[in-house]
Amino acid sequence: MQINILNDTEVATLKELVATSQRIVICGHKSPDGDAVGSCLGWAEYLRSLGKDPMIVMPDAYPDFLKWLPCSERIVRYDKHQDIVQKAFNDADLVVCIDFSEPSRVDEMEAVLTSSSAKMLVIDHHLNPSFPHSELLISRPEASSASELVFRIVWQLGGFDSMSKKWAVPVYCGMMTDTGGFTYNSTNPEIYFIISQLLTKGIDKDKIYRNVFNNSSTWAIRFRGYLMCQKLNVLEDLHASFYTVTREDMERFHFIKGDLEGLVNEPLKIAGMKLSISLREDNDRDNLVLVSLRSVDDFPCNKMAGDFFNGGGHLNASGGKLYCSIAEAERIAREAIKAYADLLR
Ligand code: 5GP
Ligand code: MN
Repeated sequence: MQINILNDTEVATLKELVATSQRIVICGHKSPDGDAVGSCLGWAEYLRSLGKDPMIVMPDAYPDFLKWLPCSERIVRYDKHQDIVQKAFNDADLVVCIDFSEPSRVDEMEAVLTSSSAKMLVIDHHLNPSFPHSELLISRPEASSASELVFRIVWQLGGFDSMSKKWAVPVYCGMMTDTGGFTYNSTNPEIYFIISQLLTKGIDKDKIYRNVFNNSSTWAIRFRGYLMCQKLNVLEDLHASFYTVTREDMERFHFIKGDLEGLVNEPLKIAGMKLSISLREDNDRDNLVLVSLRSVDDFPCNKMAGDFFNGGGHLNASGGKLYCSIAEAERIAREAIKAYADLLR
């Protein structure tokens, strides 16, 4: 098993960065998911074991189904505490960006992030990272998750033995959520070595699964059922599907953040389905539609997201945004599917 991923220069740079920093800010992306929260919490716990006292900041709320994660209540939201976050970035001597590949992924927090004069460490698994400056960019798109990278780095730096369950739980949670419970992006045998090591810390992986995936409200379950029943458009001959979610839908079903997490994967359960697109009106901003794409095999969601939805991502999981009405977004989705008909048919 090859768990180590850093070369000697990277190890030396990383050790130096951590050793010489006292005011560390760990930064997660907008609409943080299980991997964003898990990797940031895991990295913070490792730093605490070294006697550091990092602050974790994120642009907005993480979903309720992650609230049970130890120490997650300490995450500081920029949308709620702009002054505190601004000051943390101003005073920081090290900023650690985890699980995102470009500053624009922190959205309204971008200016305070990029104006920080702190040294920058990036730990990420997305394609084509683009950071204006960083002392160390650890980019491994082949990794299942940023949380997997946190495991590997801590392991390589010799920190594993002194890590507790409090570290293993978020790391496992991030790996699990970014692979849909190890159902995609998860064929690398090393992942299962990592899991076996995490289990030695006493984590209850079945409980973590239930906490994340079987933790919906009744409203959320009804909402998901409604969307699949009433709003799903299936283009059978093109093995593609999309659904739209309006603000009216969200109000009707008492939507709260996280209620529709992962729903975009659901249509892929249809035999032969290659592509699923979710189009959701933003809660606050008019003429903003949030787009999620999921695919199987070699259908390039990220290319479609770039071509049609002002976004990008991984081959089989991408996202983007449209600045238009939901009706116009639906038209664009149909156009995108048609443009890729040859690959889909
Ligand atoms: P989600 O559908 O969960 O929002 O995003 C799926 C994947 O696409 C994530 O890995 C995320 O990082 C990526 N992604 C989402 N939105 C964007 C975007 O606007 N630009 C880029 N480059 N990637 C995105
Ligand atoms: Mn991730």
